[in-house]
Amino acid sequence: MKRFTHRNEGFVCEHCQATVPEAVGTCRNHCTQCLYSKHVDVNPGDRAAACGGKMRPARLELKSGLPYRIIHVCQKCKFERPNKVTEDDNKDSLMTLVDKF
Ligand SMILES: [Zn+2]
Ligand SMILES: [Zn+2]
Repeated sequence: MKRFTHRNEGFVCEHCQATVPEAVGTCRNHCTQCLYSKHVDVNPGDRAAACGGKMRPARLELKSGLPYRIIHVCQKCKFERPNKVTEDDNKDSLMTLVDKF
């Protein structure tokens, strides 16, 4: 009954070259330091998108009662996708997104 493929693995960020460890209890899909993501999924974790573009963290979505979400925008095809903030995301990086909002 799983709707998403939860891929959980560490990776090296293509934007800031930070080594991002695998996430505990969630699907890691963005860098914990610069918050950049990569356009590789059609559905979270499936790695089915052919684009492969870097996804810039554009803003933070704050809705009461829901986890904070980073809105990622693909720099190649302009695709937008919200991603849940993970506990070890760099708080300073998150704050710069709030200012833009
Ligand atoms: Zn990074
Ligand atoms: Zn894309």
